[in-house]
Amino acid sequence: MSDCLFCKLIEGAIPSQQVYSDDKVLVFKDIKPKAAVHLLLIPRKHIASLVEVTPEDDELMAYMLRLLPTLARQQGLDTGFRTVINTGPGGGQIVYHLHFHLLGGPDLGD
Ligand code: AMP
Ligand code: ZN
Repeated sequence: MSDCLFCKLIEGAIPSQQVYSDDKVLVFKDIKPKAAVHLLLIPRKHIASLVEVTPEDDELMAYMLRLLPTLARQQGLDTGFRTVINTGPGGGQIVYHLHFHLLGGPDLGD
């Protein structure tokens, strides 16, 4: 069993509010939402952060990026959305399994 929180979530060892799942990725609600819609999109493959992404992951990264607008539309975010990738201690990353934050809804702020 992995020590990684999000790998545990993928394995089903800890619960999550899943929104979407396929053979490449998992999407679930952030446990401490900072907006009306706050989802986390993660690859099933353990990649610690954006720094660890390699050319081998190009297809996966493109797949994840292209999934974001589809997820946003499904969440009713018709006027747009925000994507955040915190990277490393200086970027405020807390969980070291690559994740894209998808945020949207009223009062999103600057
Ligand atoms: P960061 O690594 O700073 O990009 O943020 C990690 C995010 O994961 C935070 O927004 C947390 O609220 C979220 N988070 C931590 N544990 C869980 C969990 N068990 N289920 C859903 N979201 C989580
Ligand atoms: Zn992991």
